[in-house]
Amino acid sequence: MSSNDSAPSALRVVVIGAGIIGAACAIELLRDGHQVTLVEAGDPGGTQATSYGNAAWLSPASVIPMSMPGLWKKIPQYLLDKNSPLTLRWRALPALFPWLIRFLLAGASVARVEATARALTALLREAPARHRALAAEAGVPELIISRGLLYAYPNRAAFEAEALAWRLRRDNQISWKELDAQALHELAPEIGETYQFGILLEQGANCLDPGTYVAALVKHAVAQGATLLRARASGFDIQNGHLRAVLTDAGELACDRAVIAAGIHSKALAKLAGDNICMESERGYHVIVENPPFKLATPVMSGDTKIGYTSTLAGFRVAGQVELTSMPAAPDWSRADKLLQHAMAAYPALAKSTKTAVIQRWMGNRPSTTDGRPVLGQASGCAQIFHAFGHGHIGLVSGPTSGRLVADLISGRPPIIDPAPYSVTRFPWNRAGKN
Ligand SMILES: Cc1cc2nc3c(=O)[nH]c(=O)nc-3n(C[C@H](O)[C@H](O)[C@H](O)COP(=O)(O)OP(=O)(O)OC[C@H]3O[C@@H](n4cnc5c(N)ncnc54)[C@H](O)[C@@H]3O)c2cc1C
Repeated sequence: MSSNDSAPSALRVVVIGAGIIGAACAIELLRDGHQVTLVEAGDPGGTQATSYGNAAWLSPASVIPMSMPGLWKKIPQYLLDKNSPLTLRWRALPALFPWLIRFLLAGASVARVEATARALTALLREAPARHRALAAEAGVPELIISRGLLYAYPNRAAFEAEALAWRLRRDNQISWKELDAQALHELAPEIGETYQFGILLEQGANCLDPGTYVAALVKHAVAQGATLLRARASGFDIQNGHLRAVLTDAGELACDRAVIAAGIHSKALAKLAGDNICMESERGYHVIVENPPFKLATPVMSGDTKIGYTSTLAGFRVAGQVELTSMPAAPDWSRADKLLQHAMAAYPALAKSTKTAVIQRWMGNRPSTTDGRPVLGQASGCAQIFHAFGHGHIGLVSGPTSGRLVADLISGRPPIIDPAPYSVTRFPWNRAGKN
C-alpha cells in the first residue's frame, strides 16, 4: 500500500486529537495546502491532554529509552518501594504483563538501545529550533525559552553510574558541559547542597506553559483555515479497504485521509485501522507551586530522583514519576505529594517559605510503546489512515518533527527523516488478527 495512491494535491484530512502531536500535524498539513479538520474531545491543550502537564523540557538529549539493559533486575524494587521514581502496581501486573515483557526485551541489549537512541535522535535533533519557529509562527515566541537544561547530580559518581546513557548521547553528537559544585551552584543558586555535580545541555530549551502553547498552535491552525470540531471520534467508515469518513459523536466527517493523534486513546482507534498496538500508560504527575521564593534560570532534572523542576507561567512545576498501572485506575495522589516532598528537599528555600501554595496536582498518561519510539506512518489495514501517537516521554519535544514527517507521508513527498524506525510494521505481532 502506498500513501499517495492517486493523491490529489489538496486532501480532506481529519486529525483526531489536538494535543501537541495533532496540533503539529494539522499545521504541517495546512502548509501543504490540505483541508484540515481537527477533532478534539476536550479543550486543545486542556488538562485531559498529556501535553498539558509535562515537565516542559525540549531536550535533544531525551534519546535514552526507559528500558535499558539490566532494568529487569530492578522490577522487585519497583513493586515494593513506593519512593522509587518508577513504580508498578501489583494489581495491574497481569494486564501489563505482555507490555512489560516486550518493554524489557526492547532494552535487553546495548545494540537495541543504541538503535532506539539513533531513531530518537533523528526526531529530536533540531527540536528546539523547530519549536522556536513554530511558536513564532503561532504568535507566541515568548513561550519558548532557550537557556539550556541542567542535570543536577549528588556527585560525579552518580553521573558516571549512568555511563551508558551519556555514552549513547555522545555517540549521537549531543554535547554538554560538566559543572563542578561551584559552577553548579552559580548557575542554580537555589538548589541544596545535596547536589554537587552538574551537566549543562546548552542546546536544550523549555516551554513556559505547554497547555497554553498547544492551545495557541491550534488557534493558529484555525486561523490558517483548519476547522476545530469539539467531538469524540469513535471509528472509521472503511469500504473495500478505502477510508470514506471518520465517525464521531457529532456525526460523520467525510475525508480522504485521517490521522490518529489521540495520545493514550489512540490504541482503540488504531485497532479499527488494522493494528493491535502494544501501548500502555506510563503515568506521571505534577504539582505546581505558586509564589515560589525563586525563579530558575534554567530547568533542572535531579539525577537521583529523576524529577523535572521548571519555572512556568503558573508557578514552579515539579513533574515526574513513572507509575505503571492499568488505564482506568484512579490517580494515586500520594505520588504527587511525593514530588512535593522531593522538591522541598532539593530546594531548601521552598520548604522554608510561608508564601508558597500548591495550586495544582495533575496526573497524565504518557502513551508508551514497548521500544520507546512513537508510531508514525500508514496503518496496516487502511492506506488512508496514518498513525501519530505513542510518544511516551518525548511527545512535546518531538512534536514538530513528528508533524512534519506525517504530513510528508500524506503528501507523498520525500520524508524529512527516514520513517522506517517508527513504522508500525516494526511490531510483527501487533497486526490485527495475529494476536
Ligand atoms: C509527568 C510527565 C512529564 C513529561 N515531560 C515531558 C517533557 O519534559 N518533554 C517531552 O517532550 N515530553 C514529556 N512528556 C511526554 C509528553 O507530554 C507526551 O508524550 C505528549 O504530550 C503526548 O502528546 P499527544 O498529542 O500524543 O497526546 P495528548 O497530549 O494526550 O493529546 C491527545 C488529545 O486527543 C484527544 N482525544 C483522545 N481521544 C480522542 C477521541 N477519540 N476523539 C477526539 N479527541 C480525542 C484528547 O482529549 C487530547 O487532547 C511528559 C509526560 C508526563 C506525564
